[in-house]
Amino acid sequence: MPQQSINDKAFDNIAQKYCRYFDVQSPKQFTLEQWYRVIAEGTLELAYGKPAAKKSSRHVNYLSMEFLIGRLTGNNLMNLGYYDAIKAYLANYDVALVDVLEQERDPALGNGGLGRLAACFLDSMATLGQNATGYGLHYQYGLFKQSFEDGMQKECADVWSRNSYPWHRYNPSKTQNISFGGKIKLIKDDKYAWEPKLTIQGKAFDLPIVGYKNEVIQPLRLWQADSEQSFDLALFNDGKFLNADKTIVNATALTQVLYPNDNHKAGQKLRLMQQYFHCACSVADILARHFAEGHALKDFAKYQVIQLNDTHPTLAIPELMRVLLDEHDLSWDEAWEICSHTFAYTNHTLLPEALEQWDQRLFKQLLPRHFQIVEKINNIFHEKVRSEFGANPKVWEKLAILFDYRVRMANLCVVTCFKVNGVAQIHSDLVVSDLFPEYHKLFPTKFCNVTNGITPRRWIQQANPKLSALLDKTLKKDWTKDLELLKGVEQFVDDAAFREEYRAIKHHNKVVLADEIQRTLGFTVNTDAIFDIQIKRFHEYKRQHLNLLNIIATYQSLKANPNQDYTPRVFVFAGKAAPGYYLAKNIIHAINNVADVINNDKAMKDRLQVAFLPDYRVSLAEKIIPAADVSEQISMAGKEASGTGNMKLALNGALTLGTLDGANVEIAEMVGEENVFIFGHTVESVRKLLAKGYKPRDYYKRDPVLKGAMDFLTKGKVCHGDKHMFKLMLDSLLKHDPFLVLADFDSYVKAQQKVGEAYLNQDAWLRSAILNTARLGTFSSDRSIRDYQQRIWLKK
Ligand SMILES: *Cc1c(COP(=O)(O)O)cnc(C)c1O
Repeated sequence: MPQQSINDKAFDNIAQKYCRYFDVQSPKQFTLEQWYRVIAEGTLELAYGKPAAKKSSRHVNYLSMEFLIGRLTGNNLMNLGYYDAIKAYLANYDVALVDVLEQERDPALGNGGLGRLAACFLDSMATLGQNATGYGLHYQYGLFKQSFEDGMQKECADVWSRNSYPWHRYNPSKTQNISFGGKIKLIKDDKYAWEPKLTIQGKAFDLPIVGYKNEVIQPLRLWQADSEQSFDLALFNDGKFLNADKTIVNATALTQVLYPNDNHKAGQKLRLMQQYFHCACSVADILARHFAEGHALKDFAKYQVIQLNDTHPTLAIPELMRVLLDEHDLSWDEAWEICSHTFAYTNHTLLPEALEQWDQRLFKQLLPRHFQIVEKINNIFHEKVRSEFGANPKVWEKLAILFDYRVRMANLCVVTCFKVNGVAQIHSDLVVSDLFPEYHKLFPTKFCNVTNGITPRRWIQQANPKLSALLDKTLKKDWTKDLELLKGVEQFVDDAAFREEYRAIKHHNKVVLADEIQRTLGFTVNTDAIFDIQIKRFHEYKRQHLNLLNIIATYQSLKANPNQDYTPRVFVFAGKAAPGYYLAKNIIHAINNVADVINNDKAMKDRLQVAFLPDYRVSLAEKIIPAADVSEQISMAGKEASGTGNMKLALNGALTLGTLDGANVEIAEMVGEENVFIFGHTVESVRKLLAKGYKPRDYYKRDPVLKGAMDFLTKGKVCHGDKHMFKLMLDSLLKHDPFLVLADFDSYVKAQQKVGEAYLNQDAWLRSAILNTARLGTFSSDRSIRDYQQRIWLKK
């Protein structure tokens, strides 16, 4: 592949043009904000000046309600091969590229791991030359901005200025009209027509997804609702969410907000409308492209695959059926043949509270024709189940798509899709054994695994430039395109010069993070301490409160026995809780208040510190991850489908402290058990414990350390004397403890002690850190995409 380049002259021409545009005499007068626009808009023009790459194979249509893409400017410059040249050009004007990049507010069009995965996959598909289009929604407000007030989470609207975002283009040639409501009319025999009540326009906004130095640019197409027509909220009632007391709202409201729930079903009518709007715009666009490329309808599945990122885009199934039946006049069997070979479904969770179900009445009111189609799919499938299992109501109760006045989206996916994948080996096994065993019996070849991955372009090259340069120098090959090349680092694990550089880089990154902590939180942290990091959404199953209880226990122990040996630590947290998830917000509050007590206790200075950085997002993750010594991956076994934060941290040389859950299992296998800290109940022992009957209060009564830590939260400074301040969290732990925090506490404390001892042997620790970088190349999202190609998309 030719290395792309941009010379000063080409870019200078652009800068001069913008001088006229901004009415200034020289680029010297540009503000940082203006430089940001010049770079984004200017390089995009240059990049699109190159010829388009040739199409290779079946087109992947990646449907996701969320794309957590993070800042694009640095990433695109790097992938285009322009980064160094532009950095040098700006230096002529005494402008630092990093300062320009800081001007960009992350487009936060996702909640967490699921949305970030979609973004990593787009990067890898472009880099591998897999032709693909990402389809999502162009939310006006991204995920809320988080701040803390008296330790409590406050949310405010994230205005990411979608209307002036310089990296995207409004694409009016792709506009679609999407309908809702109304009724259906029988035409003849089995033919129906839908007479909708309301039509909304879907406008396309395209973001360029740039392959790594291969001239590929393909779109992430985001749909935005637009209409002069208003709709009646009494009919589409979701007044609370829209924060509106009027009954008539503008249709643009449809894509105003991203639902802020991670791993939780939303259930509201507006969300169902968003989902249908997303699916209908995307299906129409896919069909239009298919025909424009000269393909016949009967070859649809041959040239198109539609990958459903979780059940959120499931409505694409009945929508494609409807279009094929009603608009293209196919028979049911012809339409079903196409659909059942086009769709593939990625399952992201086993949590029952996250499995989407819709109220049948709501569904029918909004999408009467789609409901009719789903009913028919359900009835035909019922016949199949009866012939396989006999008339067994217990089995049908589990497998039915329509049941108990609900439409179960996961079941519709499994019945229709030609492949269903989980996102880490243990998760895929549990999908078969626990979630869908009867389906597995019916469709034994449908299920497979594709372990998640992360793009090394963003998560090593961009986030950790010093490590990246060391890898360049050591490997002398382009490891970012072939992360397995990191294995070559292993032979340097005893090389004194390499070791010293690797160590110095980690220390440098810790100093950089310490500066960020100083700037945002106003206190100094000890950069020789262990940087112990837990950054992810707040959720009970992720168990930030387990981390917290150990911190409290440590604090109490250091107070009681100040002369003990203790390896100093800085505990770093970041993460948001859904605004309506009060228990998770209570945990955030507790961490902040405990941090306050500890950080203000002079005896703890340089020994024990807690830094909770607000507003976790991709750009903050890029700052924290390179500085991590310890990666906290402490979910209850069986609950975290994969995790991807675990991969980012380990590849950047953090040692995982984790349970045998999600991709932790594979990380431990790859890196070797001597280079990770595994603790806690396993899926198997969880099962046994629950079967025996789990009584969390017994652990509290029996273990004075645990009791001390929990009681700490009910008195004194930490709760300002209000013993009920953390009642939500404490009561949940004592009464039910659904995620076995108390059952894993002792094991976790002991694992933390091992971490402390291990860190004292700096040579051995450094060795483990290097081996984490060297042995985890398999967690590149390039490998995930190759797995999707082989196991799902291109399988004959
Ligand atoms: C990677 C990432 C996540 C996912 O983290 P997990 O630890 O896997 O839950 C969430 N949010 C952001 C901003 C990320 O970059």
